[in-house]
Amino acid sequence: MVWRGNLKIAVLRVKFADVAQEQRDDGFYYDLFINRFTGGLNDYYINASGGNVNFDDSILLPWKSTVENRQDFLTKYAGRNNIINAACAIHGIDRSQFFAVVAIFNASTGDASSAGNGVLLSADAPIELEMRFLAHEIGHCFGFMDSYDESDRRQGSDPAEGWYWDQYDIMSARNTFSYSHPRWGMTGPNLAMPYKEFAGWTSKVYTTRTNVDHTDEIRLLSYANPLSNGYTCIRYDNWYVEFRTPDFFDTGLARPCILIHSMTPEVNAVVHNRNPVNWVNEWQVGDVFGAPPLVFSLFGGVRIEILGYNLQTGDKYARIRISVRRRRPPPVFPPTQPPVFPPIIPPGPLNPQSAPVAAISGQAPVQDLETNDPKAPIFVSNEEFISASKHTVDEDKQEEVAGRIRRTLEGIALHAKDEVLAPPAPPRNEDAEDTQ
Ligand SMILES: [Zn+2]
Repeated sequence: MVWRGNLKIAVLRVKFADVAQEQRDDGFYYDLFINRFTGGLNDYYINASGGNVNFDDSILLPWKSTVENRQDFLTKYAGRNNIINAACAIHGIDRSQFFAVVAIFNASTGDASSAGNGVLLSADAPIELEMRFLAHEIGHCFGFMDSYDESDRRQGSDPAEGWYWDQYDIMSARNTFSYSHPRWGMTGPNLAMPYKEFAGWTSKVYTTRTNVDHTDEIRLLSYANPLSNGYTCIRYDNWYVEFRTPDFFDTGLARPCILIHSMTPEVNAVVHNRNPVNWVNEWQVGDVFGAPPLVFSLFGGVRIEILGYNLQTGDKYARIRISVRRRRPPPVFPPTQPPVFPPIIPPGPLNPQSAPVAAISGQAPVQDLETNDPKAPIFVSNEEFISASKHTVDEDKQEEVAGRIRRTLEGIALHAKDEVLAPPAPPRNEDAEDTQ
């Protein structure tokens, strides 16, 4: 869903009939939710949305009391959404007229989080008036779900693996690289790029064309200076590449880094690891994302190389090289794809010279090197194949071997096509055989 313009939040303050304390003064709430240039929630989403949305027209309503005592109220309005609706009723607010309603109680309701376009919190719990909590819950009002990484780690008793483990994203809040703001407590980080695109907030997107071979060098901008010349996001397939620096709401980040995300259909961003051994989720200068050299050379694909960072104030960007080669899927690889040719090739003795190629092609016919068949594949030796895979040979050599492997696969395909294939044997009737 695309979000634009002045989005109105109603900040409703409710005190229980038997709890007199009014927490904080009006200025605190105006600065936290509505006023600009305070480091508060309005600034957060102006920055995260690249200026596409703001909360300038939001309203702060005065403290109003419940009729019931705290215990009676919570018995009568059990459940988060019911409590938020009760707060709207006390203030005479039609919830549907606002982008979001934030119901703030002066003492604990035993619950705090979002429901639909409502957020529930208690002003006597300092953590619930922190920017990190608020920016996360308002994120849910935009339709963003919690974020993940690819690990099997769990947060406390949470059942799902990787849940809340994108420490670079506000939608993993409570387990993020945040910093302590003097007024708003734990604050940041910024919002992961897939959510920004989901909300229609990405304008400078480099989208790779995968049907033309090409190489580009681009500037990938930090959100610290989104108005500079360059791109804020690289898109290809379901991958989102972004550059983050420890500025503004990302002040809690330890260092500049490249992040690579994907998005699930359920609107969860997932941060893609660089290293699955100890779950390093950031990418740095010298790292390459995408097809390994041999696969790239053989079958095409996309490679994204991080060449360097420029970190001058006001002009922070990463230099990125994007290389694209049209994809050339091999005839019988990967084995999960439907076979192009009938896979009824009788097994023969394995030729050790051709073993690796046969192994990767799955259904390749085994060929005798001495054959005179002009269509027989040109095989690559085991040593050459492994050597090329490990990049231990120089680039020219690697290209040459890669070319021969490609020709080998093409040869196998050609040959297999010309084979006169015996019809499949009729299925055996096991039951009939067992019966006498
Ligand atoms: Zn959440």
